[in-house]
Amino acid sequence: MQTLLGNEQLKRGLAAAFASGRLSHCYLLAGPAGSGKHTLARILCAAMECTAEGGQRPCGSCLQCRKVLDKLHPDVITVDEPDKKTVSVELIRKTREDVFIKPNEGLRKVYVIPRAMDMNPAAQNALLKVIEEPPEYAAFLLLTDAAERLLPTIRSRAVTLRLSPLSEAEGVAALSRRCPGRSPEELRDAWSRSGGFLGQAEALLSEAEALAPETRSFADCFARRDRMGLTELLVPMERLKREQLLSLLNQWAELLSQALLVRSGLPGTWEAARKIGQSRTGVACMEALCSLRRSVELLQGNIGVGNLCGALQVWLDIRE
Ligand SMILES: [Zn+2]
Repeated sequence: MQTLLGNEQLKRGLAAAFASGRLSHCYLLAGPAGSGKHTLARILCAAMECTAEGGQRPCGSCLQCRKVLDKLHPDVITVDEPDKKTVSVELIRKTREDVFIKPNEGLRKVYVIPRAMDMNPAAQNALLKVIEEPPEYAAFLLLTDAAERLLPTIRSRAVTLRLSPLSEAEGVAALSRRCPGRSPEELRDAWSRSGGFLGQAEALLSEAEALAPETRSFADCFARRDRMGLTELLVPMERLKREQLLSLLNQWAELLSQALLVRSGLPGTWEAARKIGQSRTGVACMEALCSLRRSVELLQGNIGVGNLCGALQVWLDIRE
């Protein structure tokens, strides 16, 4: 069974509640991205459905636990429309109707709202009506990275579980298990920039992998003031599709923004950005960044890809 790392105090409190069966019908799981909200939600759902007699809950092995952990339990319901920007009041109203239909097979019907902060006030008020007086078997888990975006009336009816950062030793060890094959430096570096949250450290590592080869070359040329290299990179790019070039230039702009952060003493996400920040001046980075932003705007208009790549050879020229 997936376990929540760290957060000892929170886990002790929950273990006591699980053992005594005194579970709240509404929990607010609060913490930044990558802090373990989803893992905790899954454990809570399992604890609510677990049918093991005595012993530790959730047991992780009874049929109900297994269904929850495999995301197959019919009474654990995710309330979200991921393709929409907000969690709509219509969706919450539909949920409210569903709440009054008894569980299929579980002890409870658990509603998980993964983007609770994206409910507008109307949706929150609609939810409030049902969490004020839910049927006995209903439970709600509200996940949010911004608890303050929820109405005080909602917050006051929920038990807040706040996720904490992990210690460095714990975090780096967990990261090396999840991302095998990385050097200790890479791991420590990602960890130091993650704010202490494993999910963010993992995202940082995979982001570094996600850099396009052209972006890595650009970073290299720009950092080394390699004018020829830059030309050799840009010429074949004239054959790219508009969308491809746009996505590359956006990545280059992000790279330079991070290089500027590095220059102002903040940690940049990408190693490539650090190299630039260490070897080029802030003015050089800023000028190149402005050129890239202008290029992105032009590309969104009518300019031809070939013309733009030609112009970029001049605009990104390395003078100092
Ligand atoms: Zn169980």
